[in-house]
Amino acid sequence: MRVFKFGGASVKDAAAVANVASVLKKFAGEKIIVVVSAMGKTTNGLEKVVQSYYYKKCDTQKALEEVKRFHLNIMNLLFRDTDHSVYREVNNFFVEADWVIEEEQNHGYNFTYDQIVSLGELISTKIVSAYLNDEGIKCKWIDVRDCIRTDNTYREGKVLWDESLALAEQNLKPLFNEYNIILTQGFIGGTSENYTTTLGREGSDYTAAILAHLMDATDVTIWKDVSGVLNADPKFYKDAQKLEQLSYLDAIELAYYGATVIHPKTIKPLENKNISLYVKSFVNADAAGTVIKTNVQTKPLIPSFIFKTNQVLISISAKDFSFISEDNLSNIFGAFAKAGVKINLTQNSAISFSVCVDDDEFKIPALIEQLQKDYKVLYNKELQLHTVRHYYPSTIESITAGKEILVEQRSRHTAQFVLRDIFK
Ligand code: ASP
Ligand code: MG
Repeated sequence: MRVFKFGGASVKDAAAVANVASVLKKFAGEKIIVVVSAMGKTTNGLEKVVQSYYYKKCDTQKALEEVKRFHLNIMNLLFRDTDHSVYREVNNFFVEADWVIEEEQNHGYNFTYDQIVSLGELISTKIVSAYLNDEGIKCKWIDVRDCIRTDNTYREGKVLWDESLALAEQNLKPLFNEYNIILTQGFIGGTSENYTTTLGREGSDYTAAILAHLMDATDVTIWKDVSGVLNADPKFYKDAQKLEQLSYLDAIELAYYGATVIHPKTIKPLENKNISLYVKSFVNADAAGTVIKTNVQTKPLIPSFIFKTNQVLISISAKDFSFISEDNLSNIFGAFAKAGVKINLTQNSAISFSVCVDDDEFKIPALIEQLQKDYKVLYNKELQLHTVRHYYPSTIESITAGKEILVEQRSRHTAQFVLRDIFK
């Protein structure tokens, strides 16, 4: 049994959905779990709904209407029959969103976020599964919340592996007696109280890995709009090259430093069961792509570049010019953990401790306010974080040219720079 994952870009419009069908036709007769993300930028659209509901920023109904219209347009192209049951099924999910936003706010932001944002995947899978069945590709839609159990850490659900295994054995495995293709949602899980959680943005890759782990799949394929794992983001580096193969270790390092090609949590469940991961192009499904597996030397051994914009460098020092001690550090890390801010890089000197993080209009001001209670806090915004794995001196020169270096760190394999454009 294999696991395929189709991300938002692979189902962004009617033509893309039709393309998913043509990819799947190449694998007729194979047993496949197909994991699908929300269509196109739906998750961002639903995030807007939650934000406007919660912070009364703009018209919540209007934000939701936009998401509805986007899906309706796609459905109108895919399903000629206006009585098709898919219209009712999709509408039922939108009704759930209506209920939430008509209610008074009596849950936390993260809880509300998960109940609304998860609808993107539920809706997309209903549409894709109806289309595939119409096209003669028989498949069974299942609700992944019946297979992946998480704790109630909303927006970052932690998988409860033993319970999920029991659920998958019971609710997923037997279906393969009747179906070759089981189609389900990425990104979401369910708690023991039947509430919905999400696994973190871009979490559908992780879902594919979880299901592969639970079901002992032979391999996982992530179908993308690029030819495989590239050594750099082609948006920023015109000479980006495809890597033919990667070790789990290199893949996890690249993902950890911010390469967006695979979600960082994806590798561990696969590595633990030695399941290979293919990254392939959904526009050129027969091409080799990249394979990530155990014990391979990443080939070719060329530098990989990871470029993150919108970074903030926060420098924290004691108010009385004393050293940053271990006690301070534990207090500081605690504040980051509590604010849910992930640390991209740290650097310390005698009296200050600097941390580079992704900017976030809500989390960062709250974190800074918290830190300012005990420390002197300075910060710089609009910075870039460059990470180079397998670097050479010349690669570093090309990255830092024309930039001011605020922080520089090098280990044997990896160099990192926090940079700012000089002519700004
Ligand atoms: N739809 C979710 C997101 O955009 C999950 C995913 O695409 O992997 O974050
Ligand atoms: Mg996505």
